[in-house]
Amino acid sequence: MKTIAILGSTGSIGTQTLEVVRANGDIRVAALGAGKNIELLERQIREFQPRLACVWDEGDAKTLRTKVADLSIEIVCGMDGLKAVATCEEAGILVTAIVGMIGIVPTIEAIRAGKDIALANKETLVTAGHLIMPLAKQCGVKILPVDSEHSAIFQCLHANGRQPENSRSGSDLSESSDISDTSDTAKSSIDKILLTASGGPFRGRSYDELKTVRVEDALKHPNWAMGQKITIDSASMVNKGLEVMEARWLFDVELDQIQVVVQPQSIIHSMVQFADGAVIAQLGTPDMKLPIQYALYYPERRFLAGERLDFAKIASITFENPDPDTFLGLKYAFEAARIGGSMPTVFNAANERAVRMFLHREIGFTDIYDIIRFCMDHHRVIPNPDVTQILETEQKVYEMINGRQVLI
Ligand code: NDP
Repeated sequence: MKTIAILGSTGSIGTQTLEVVRANGDIRVAALGAGKNIELLERQIREFQPRLACVWDEGDAKTLRTKVADLSIEIVCGMDGLKAVATCEEAGILVTAIVGMIGIVPTIEAIRAGKDIALANKETLVTAGHLIMPLAKQCGVKILPVDSEHSAIFQCLHANGRQPENSRSGSDLSESSDISDTSDTAKSSIDKILLTASGGPFRGRSYDELKTVRVEDALKHPNWAMGQKITIDSASMVNKGLEVMEARWLFDVELDQIQVVVQPQSIIHSMVQFADGAVIAQLGTPDMKLPIQYALYYPERRFLAGERLDFAKIASITFENPDPDTFLGLKYAFEAARIGGSMPTVFNAANERAVRMFLHREIGFTDIYDIIRFCMDHHRVIPNPDVTQILETEQKVYEMINGRQVLI
């Protein structure tokens, strides 16, 4: 029986992970971590009976302890609590479904403790990919993508007969297997990663039109139901930029090998073009439970209930180039990724804070881009930041934004 721990169990990915667990009935949940939603966490504890649970605040932890006093469970809190969930002894896989850079340290601890990572938290690789991927290799753990595009690429590589680099454990690396390739040959067989994007709710709009869009409009994603932060990121195409950075680390490719293709119906979740010109794509209805389940059971493919594609109904699948001069989030992301070092952290932290301000109606939509630009322009890059430097850079960005009232 597989045993998992989940960080961010009360969020969009977290709850869908538990739906997958419920539907399959053969995964044990050893530990759950959440932020503030203790009502939902209590229901999850009663249903899945983990032996450990974490909430962020000490006060919430006290309340939760009282609520579940009839159960045999330990309630912890804060960063130490998140680390305890991440390294919980019984769990073989940690699902990182927490939002934000707060996910980095617990993920590193989990890797050090030998847990495979079902990775949804994209901030981890965006800001610390240069540390995470070598560490995972060194510790012999798998990084299994949950983001639908990265899962699609992962599935395309697997379909091509290559065991994706990041899915091989330390012991696999020294063995030859008929589905794995040597890493050099495998890497050279990828010509291009074609990362698809829906284009979000504002596809086709001009920059001037973006200036006046409201929070409600930005939260209406045409195809996917997700948490608020990632939904705004999809509308600004910052999300696609973060995914480019994530893909670069996950699949060990050059930035120039990643092309963003707008595919408005969200039927193709991404594609890989190989050296001989063949393109393998992964298609499906937009349902995050598919990539979540694929990560949890990899390399096994299980039954998943739900709608199937009906090609006669779909009739056409269309493609467009993105418009990086309007959706500046994509343009700035490529720039940050090219500069490297601490710049992706600046891009990510500036966006994180700006999105929060937009959701609180303190700034307009295009101010998100202005804030990212300002922070990138005023940052002196640290070439190879360690975790402390990454987290210090995040704090400096927040201070920079707080001091820059003129933008708000
Ligand atoms: P949500 O906002 O829906 O959920 C975030 C989760 O993180 C909640 O469980 C929240 O707890 C928890 N959390 C927030 N702050 C803390 C904290 N300080 N301590 C402990 N837990 C905390 O986000 P999503 O599920 O949408 O996204 C999660 C991650 O997955 C993000 O990095 C996102 O980019 C990525 N992702 C999401 C996709 C999606 O379809 N939703 C697709 C691909 C990637 P609480 O609610 O209790 O406060």
